[in-house]
This record gives sequence, structure tokens and C-alpha cells, in this order.
Amino acid sequence: MPVVVQKYGGSSVGTVEKMRKVAEKVAAARRAGKDVCVVVSAMGDTTDDLLALAKQISPAPARRELDMLLSAGERISMALLSMALNDLGVPAISFTGSQSGIITTDSHSAARILEVRAFRVQEELAKGKVVIVAGYQGVSTRKEVTTLGRGGSDTTAVALAAALGADCEIYSDVAGVFTADPRVVPSAARLDALSYEEMQELAAAGAKVLNAQAVEFAKERGIAIHARSTFGGPEETVVKGGAHPERIAGVAVQKGLALLGFPAARLGDVLGILERHGAVALEIAAPGERAGVALDLENVHDWPVLRAQLAAEVPGLAAEDEAIGAVSVVGTGISAGHRVLRAVAATLAELGARPRALFTSPLRVTAYCDAAVLKDAARRLHEQLVG
Ligand code: ADP
Ligand code: ASP
Ligand code: MG
Repeated sequence: MPVVVQKYGGSSVGTVEKMRKVAEKVAAARRAGKDVCVVVSAMGDTTDDLLALAKQISPAPARRELDMLLSAGERISMALLSMALNDLGVPAISFTGSQSGIITTDSHSAARILEVRAFRVQEELAKGKVVIVAGYQGVSTRKEVTTLGRGGSDTTAVALAAALGADCEIYSDVAGVFTADPRVVPSAARLDALSYEEMQELAAAGAKVLNAQAVEFAKERGIAIHARSTFGGPEETVVKGGAHPERIAGVAVQKGLALLGFPAARLGDVLGILERHGAVALEIAAPGERAGVALDLENVHDWPVLRAQLAAEVPGLAAEDEAIGAVSVVGTGISAGHRVLRAVAATLAELGARPRALFTSPLRVTAYCDAAVLKDAARRLHEQLVG
């Protein structure tokens, strides 16, 4: 029987009614003759709510305990969806990440999947059951519960699809990957297909419709990702191998960044401290006496403590964390000339914002800037470069 992994995100299972509709969709796939493994995210804003709860208890919660807490969100969804399916007459069983054999590194709150030992999932599929897996979580080689970083249920889905030799369908509240976030740029259009490389750059630049690590995994294992809307029509975006002719794939924005500046000689110390807190540098520059690091704070849940430690251990450190963001343009052959770079610089200047740092790669131009101008910058750049 063909196997399919279907992943439903937080907005798709946000209420009991939506959960029931998802159960009906899964039941239809099962009746169509497929073996179905479903990956679910936490309901609606559950993960944010749990995080807020933790911060009420402690300003710098231990990362191990945070993972115990945050992984509970997906457990709720998996059990409820399994109940809904059983009520529809479709035998189902739910598993946590650990029970599904998702083995990860021990980097709490940003763990990476090392291996998937999907024996129990396979056994239950063979019995004709739909298997529901809690996304975003795994178990480390030291047997600790870990989470995969925000948006990590996508990674669970791709990793399971690879382990099961299955198709991978990722359902959310948009009909696929657009040339920009359709909530920010209403004229954004859906892309029929993207290469892994384009999608990786878009995701890394803040297009959270697919998680960057999930796309990296898909690329390594050659898994095509079908991104669709849960409650919409059959339109989709397929992310798969193969190059595209030169084109601009899209514009993305990212909030919640920090910029650190410090004496270049202390780069090694700074990176060591960041690593101990699970904070990953997006960009590093050390052109002269001073070095700079751009950080994504999304999975750094003890930033005030980390910041204080950096300030205490690195004399001359300057940290900006409020209202820093980045706007990026992604596409094939983008840095062949200066057209895109000039457009980015000119757009930020028109908006009265100076680029704090610029980064280019063969597929991406990124400008770090004041987060207040991101939406306008995205709209203007989309209009000029994409149409
Ligand atoms: P889920 O909870 O299902 O995982 P997410 O909220 O993580 O869904 O991702 C879907 C959201 O991603 C959309 O609601 C949309 O606002 C946002 N998004 C950002 N960039 C893009 C893009 N380029 N194309 C489509 N959606 C995008
Ligand atoms: N529930 C987690 C989050 O909100 C994981 C996910 O949705 O993929 O980030
Ligand atoms: Mg998501």
C-alpha cells in the first residue's frame, strides 16, 4: 500500500471543529487505500501560551524543563485526533516523538534529528491503523525529551516520510508557498514549484510556511514536499530537486533578531557562550577591530540571562535586540549583478532606514534593519522585483 505522511499545523487543529474536519480528511485518505501517518502540531497558540506560562514561573527556565513543557502541546493534539478518528470508525493510535523513534541531538529547544527508528509506527501501519505522531519533539541519545525548534513539526513529517518511504504532504492555512507572506503582501502569488535550495533560503529568511531544517532534511533524502491548504482546494507547491532558470522566487521578512558587536579578538568566546545557550549565529562579520554577529532569538528562551552573561564576560560588547529584523530577496542567480542589492538599499533609504548589515549569497540578498519598516520594505520590493 502506498504510504503518505500528512502534517497538520497549529491553525489546522486549533479548535475541536477543525480537529474533526482534519480527522475526516485523514479518514478519506485512508479509505482511498493509503497507509496514513499523521504528524500534528499543538492546537492554535498552545506553544506560545505554554512558553508564556513558563516565563511567569521563571525568567530563565531550564531548557530541559521547557522541552518537557512545550512537548506537551503536541501530545494533546495527537490524542484528540486519534480519538476523533476512532469515533469515525477508523482505527488509530497516537505516539509521542520518543515512541515514534525520533532520535535527536541533546540540544534542548533546538535539537536536530539524528535518526528515525520508526519500528512501532511501521508495526501499527501494518495492522491497518492510522498512526498519529506528535510533531516537534524527539528523544536524545541520553533519553531526554527534546524539541526541534519552533516550526519543527514540519521536520518530524519529512523525517518520517524518509523513514517510511512515504509521500510528504504539509497542510497549513495557506495554499502553498507564495512569492511573499500573503498576509503581508496581498499581491503575492503561489509558486507551483521550488527547488530545495530556493525553499531553504526562503525559510531561513523567515518564510515560516515551511521549516528550514525540514527542507534541509528533504533535500538530503530526496523527499518531495507537497505544501497545501488544509481546508482549501487541491492547489499546491511542490518543493523538489532540480534547478530553476534565473528568477526571483520571493521576498521574506524576519523579526526578533539581535545584533551583537564586540572586539574581533573575542569572537571565539562569544560563539562559545552562544553555543552553551543553544543560540545559533545567522551571520558573522569581522572586517576589522570589531566583529558582528546576527542572532535569531526565536529558540533562545533565556535571552536576558544570555545577554547579561555576554556583557559580563566580553568587555566592549554592544547588543541590540529590540526591533531588529531582516528583509531578504531570494532567487536563482540573484547576485549575478547588483540589481537586487541596489533595490534593497534604495528601498530602505526611501523608508528612512539604514541597512545595519547586508549579506549576499548566490541565492539571497539580506538586509538587517529596523523591524518597523519590514512590511513596507517587503511590499515595495515585491512590487519592484516580483510584480
Ligand atoms: P502551521 O501552523 O500550519 O505550521 P505556519 O504558521 O507555521 O503554519 O506557516 C503558515 C504561515 O506562513 C502562513 O499563515 C503565512 O502567513 C506564513 N508565510 C510566511 N511566508 C510565506 C510564504 N512565502 N508563503 C506562504 N505563507 C507564508
Ligand atoms: N508547536 C510548535 C510551534 O508552535 C511546532 C510547530 O508548530 O511546528 O512552533
Ligand atoms: Mg509551521
